[in-house]
Amino acid sequence: MSEVEKSDVVVVGARLAGCALAAPLARAGRKVVVLDRMSFPSDQLSTHVLFSNGVAELASLGALPRILALDPTKVHRVALHAGDVCMVEPMRPFDGIDYGVCVPRDMQDVCLVEAAREQGAEIRERSTFESPLWRNGRVSGVRYRDGDGEEHEIEASLVVGADGRRSSVAAAVGAFAPYRRSRNGRGLVFRYMDDPSADPADRDTYIQWRDGTSFAYAFPCTPAGRLLVLFMGHRDEVSDARRDPEGHWRRKVAEHPALARRLAGVDESSYSKVRSTASTPAFFRASSGPGWALAGDAGHFKDPVTGQGMRDSLWMGRTLAERVMPALDDPAAVDRVTREWEAARDRHCLPAYHLANIDTRVETSSPVLREVLRHGGVRSEPDLADLFCRGREPSEVLTLPRVLRALGSAFARADVPRREVAARSIAEAKRDILIRREARRDEFRPARPIPGSDHPGAEFPDPPAPAPRAAEAPAPEPEAVRA
Ligand SMILES: Cc1cc2nc3c(=O)[nH]c(=O)nc-3n(C[C@H](O)[C@H](O)[C@H](O)COP(=O)(O)OP(=O)(O)OC[C@H]3O[C@@H](n4cnc5c(N)ncnc54)[C@H](O)[C@@H]3O)c2cc1C
Repeated sequence: MSEVEKSDVVVVGARLAGCALAAPLARAGRKVVVLDRMSFPSDQLSTHVLFSNGVAELASLGALPRILALDPTKVHRVALHAGDVCMVEPMRPFDGIDYGVCVPRDMQDVCLVEAAREQGAEIRERSTFESPLWRNGRVSGVRYRDGDGEEHEIEASLVVGADGRRSSVAAAVGAFAPYRRSRNGRGLVFRYMDDPSADPADRDTYIQWRDGTSFAYAFPCTPAGRLLVLFMGHRDEVSDARRDPEGHWRRKVAEHPALARRLAGVDESSYSKVRSTASTPAFFRASSGPGWALAGDAGHFKDPVTGQGMRDSLWMGRTLAERVMPALDDPAAVDRVTREWEAARDRHCLPAYHLANIDTRVETSSPVLREVLRHGGVRSEPDLADLFCRGREPSEVLTLPRVLRALGSAFARADVPRREVAARSIAEAKRDILIRREARRDEFRPARPIPGSDHPGAEFPDPPAPAPRAAEAPAPEPEAVRA
């Protein structure tokens, strides 16, 4: 084994969270080593839509010039259609950025790696985290294996797992089992194609259609002229998509007539293969402890139905760097600020977690939401679009007066039985009150499930097996891994 190396921070995982954390630390002159078992470019199963708030995070990371060099379609508007009602609005600008991009992960993530490297982060590809090093009940570094099979150790003030949903770092510090989880109702089935529409309005809009209980999406993507089409029906539909991809695809297009019109004349020879997943349970893990923290999906994952995961992973990486930067020379201060950061993360991410849990329920559109959309309509200023771009909290967008007006309007319409409107609205009101109360309580690691948001029955994968050598390492002391 080679001699022990020293670093300020070791990050495991070199994608959204890892690069967003490493770049500002390295820029500030800190030594940061980032390990990733993959070599880049490297793909990842994800539909990769970013709204304007996510693009602003790419700019903070220093990766935006590289992303723009890929010729992405810059998308300025979001549209939500639910049967006969719709909302079309511009995205809210963040730091002067008023557009979203949707860049396939193999193209996108290598830009993040290059940007972080350019700013001084040492990114080591084909390097697999094996186990933490422990000293006095605190994580004091990592042991990893490089692409040639050689083992190395690095000592560091902080080790961050930015290694995704099946985080080996979380498993090694005893935090793999989430303290809160929610089952996904919907699955994802998607593919790429040449965009059949040359209409600038189509090319400038992320569209979601809600027909019956099924969702469909069209995302103009990268390079310009390509289109990503996604279906999110019941998660059980994914097995049908795997058995008969083309038949499933045709059936889903037929279920969404407006999408079928958007795709009229599509050149089927430009289709990519169909990709799918039925397993996207949302969760929160304890994400800070002595000498360690978890950022990005490693610590928190939300249902992809609202397309917020990459943006939040970038946000988590950046904000964790900001918190730990002044504390890195004092282990006690590091442990205090990572805990404070975890609390701030939950405050920031909980509203979007609930919104995604609500949308992953496989049910027809809420009568109240339909009336909100009916009265929203086509606007030149962002309003409901803040539900996607996170310019305001959902409770600030769907205010009580607005919801009450929509409820009155839903009762006045003849097409939905009043009894159904009443039953749905009471359940939604109860849920929303509990969500608001939870936010006011501001507990650390709030684990109480909220009926209507946290869905029971989330299956969770087994933790990754520890590397054989890790079995020889001393077991972490219980107080070192306790939440
Ligand atoms: C089907 C699907 C669709 C999605 N669609 C969207 C969307 O449209 N928009 C959106 O914003 N988000 C979306 N998301 C969420 C988004 O993909 C994630 O939030 C995001 O990838 C998380 O980034 P990350 O950096 O935390 O982790 P990841 O992207 O998971 O990266 C983790 C990295 O860690 C590395 N790693 C793992 N273990 C080790 C180890 N032992 N040693 C070294 N390296 C290791 C991996 O190789 C990987 O490179 C979607 C997710 C899914 C599953």
